[in-house]
Amino acid sequence: MFDSVGWVTESGLTYLDHAASTPMRAEAVEAMMPYLSELYANPSGSHRFARRARRAVDEARDTVARVVGCHPNEVVFTGCGTESDNMAVTGAIARRGGVAVCPAVEHHAVLHVVEQLGDRGRIVGVDRYGRVDLDELATVLDATPDVSIVSVMAVNNEVGTITDLAEVARVVRRHAPDALLHTDAVQSACWVDLRDITPLVDLLSLSAHKFGGPKGVGVLVERGGPQVEPLIVGGGQERERRSGTHNTAGIVAAAVALDLTDRDRAEENERLTVLRDRLVAGLGDRLDGVTETVPAAHKVAGSAHVCVAGIESEALLFLLDEADVCASAASACASGAMEPSHVLAAMGVDRSSALGALRLTLGHTTTAADVERAIDVIGASVDRLRRQTTAAVARTTADAVRSTS
Ligand code: PLP
Repeated sequence: MFDSVGWVTESGLTYLDHAASTPMRAEAVEAMMPYLSELYANPSGSHRFARRARRAVDEARDTVARVVGCHPNEVVFTGCGTESDNMAVTGAIARRGGVAVCPAVEHHAVLHVVEQLGDRGRIVGVDRYGRVDLDELATVLDATPDVSIVSVMAVNNEVGTITDLAEVARVVRRHAPDALLHTDAVQSACWVDLRDITPLVDLLSLSAHKFGGPKGVGVLVERGGPQVEPLIVGGGQERERRSGTHNTAGIVAAAVALDLTDRDRAEENERLTVLRDRLVAGLGDRLDGVTETVPAAHKVAGSAHVCVAGIESEALLFLLDEADVCASAASACASGAMEPSHVLAAMGVDRSSALGALRLTLGHTTTAADVERAIDVIGASVDRLRRQTTAAVARTTADAVRSTS
């Protein structure tokens, strides 16, 4: 069960943390190998060897453009989803000045950038499912004449809520016709046909490790050509949009993974909806006090976010980890903190429920056996934590009685 470096191999793990990172598709691993070994030339070079690498990057760009529904010239390869998000918001303000607006549940890759703008950033509230409050958005846009960018995520990384981007676009185009609309679609590629959302926005971010590609490859789609200032300047790669030597192997693998994700999406949505529903129902049957944070109709098939009453998620995650079940509480980047996540706080989830949050996310390697094992392990772990709490309360009460008698 343990491999050469001492980790439990994939077959021994119950991996329900796909929103943090997906296992790479075997085809993507295979596609990147030659560019890590014999085809190592820098794609910006002028010799034939370099031109071969450049051709691979260009073909990958064509594939990404086809799946996303844009022109290849609108695709900018970046180093990660965070960089794409930063480039969209920071680059818009650098080019156009003015104000950036986003909802309170954005990933920190957007939220922190808007917050750091101080009085040139506006944060908009959300409803109990984490959807941006469209009336408040309209009010903020009406009251702020110089909005240069509005950024609204397509799918929330923590609770899986799907944004109705057509509605968001309608409000933004009406109330801030000069503003750019950016969507962080990092959590969308597995679940949503990107061709449906790209035409609604000016800028769209992706990250390859969320759809079976490697870490360290992001995409920023800039519709209609350059819309924002580059974040990274230097050698002028990516038509001066993003300098830095291309990660040829990663880009090639990202395109292969995206293409397969697009091919399998409809089937995977159906398959994983069944597994996700079974997981949530199974936990509800096995345990008292399990609340599904967002109803299935409003979220992607891979997301099973629940709040478990009477436990703290950090303690539960520790027991799950011991049993080789990979899950998370808040988003991976935020876990480790005992504060309830900013997403749940913005949705109005009360603090004690939020402290028992459990994010289980499914993906292309998830099986029915994973789901059944997760139900068993989570059930037993929560029982154990609740027994410990009951015993601790009994001990404290007994101590108090002794000390007063
Ligand atoms: N945006 C969302 C919605 C995410 O879920 C993540 C990663 O968790 C990011 C951005 C950041 O992407 P990356 O890990 O590629 O920097």
